[in-house]
Order: sequence, then C-alpha cells, then structure tokens
Amino acid sequence: MPISLPVLPYEKNTLAPYISQQTIEYHYGKHHNAYVTNTNKLIEGTDLSNQDLGNIIKKTSKDTSMSSIFNNAAQVWNHSFYWACMKPGGGGSPSGAIAERIASDFGSYEKFAEQFKNAGITQFGSGWAWLILKDNHLEIMKTSNADTPLAHGLKPLLTVDVWEHAYYLDYQNRRPDYLASFLEHLINWDFVNSLI
Ligand code: MN
Repeated sequence: MPISLPVLPYEKNTLAPYISQQTIEYHYGKHHNAYVTNTNKLIEGTDLSNQDLGNIIKKTSKDTSMSSIFNNAAQVWNHSFYWACMKPGGGGSPSGAIAERIASDFGSYEKFAEQFKNAGITQFGSGWAWLILKDNHLEIMKTSNADTPLAHGLKPLLTVDVWEHAYYLDYQNRRPDYLASFLEHLINWDFVNSLI
C-alpha cells in the first residue's frame, strides 16, 4: 500500500474535552482512514501508484478527470497535517520564531487569532482554514472541500478542519466555539515552529 494512515501523535482521549475520543474515533478512524483506502484503490495500477502523496496532489490538482484522486489524496494530506497541528495542552499565544513572525505580519497574536477564527467561521460549507507562508509572508487562507495550499504552491504552517464531521459531535452547529477551543487549547506551536 503506497499511501498509509499516519500514527496519531497522541492518544485518542487526550484532546478531550475540546475534541472528544468519539470524534477522533470517527474522524481519524473512519473519515481519514477512508480517504487513505480510496486513494490507494484509485491509484492502483496507474503511474501515480509509485508517487508520494505531495506529487499525487500536484499532478491531479488541475485535471478535472482526476478530481476523485485529488479529493481523496488531498484529504489524506490535509488530515495528517491537521492532527500534527494539535497537542494536548496546546493553544494560546506562541513562543519562538512563529511568535515574532505573527507579531510582524499581523500586528499581534490577537489580530492573527481573530483573522484565523474568522476564516474558519466564514468558510461556507466544508473546508479548511490555514496559516500559510506566501512570498516569505504569513497569510490566512481558507479552502473549500479537499482543496489545499499545496496545490497552489503555498507552504502550509497550520490548519483547522471546518468540515462538520470535525466538530458536530462535540459542538453541534457551534463552529465558532470549536474554533475558539482550537486556538485556546489545541494548537501545537512547536510543530508550527518546526516548519519555518
Ligand atoms: Mn475532516
């Protein structure tokens, strides 16, 4: 199997109460796992079967006849990145290099947090909110469905999944509360710092 489900970087119950074990069991164990299974089925026997995930995403992103492969492969990558963006006891304002970059590019952590949260709230329907590096400058971005900054040549530094499956069991329709928990209690800034 060329594409695999990554091991979660923490136990399934350790993001609670902000993200419950039940949400992780469905989101990681069912949704993410299904994207991995589907990607492997779709690339089997094609010249994509020996490519890494990043190349599969780039090679299928602009070809509508490849949209099923793109959607599944991008969702594999987006979810693996999302799990790495969180840790138990995370969140709050960062330290290290990312703290300085946020202060210089957004003015303050509070302004960054407001814009990031607003991107997640205003993403209509399913998708993702991102912190990205573009031309050596931090920016907030949102993408629909499986779309990912990787497909646009941009460098992702942080993401939050705003598909309903990410928060509905724990927050029902209260997406802003889920985003507040992500910012205040879950972000793994050490991981973000490792990327810049
Ligand atoms: Mn998801």
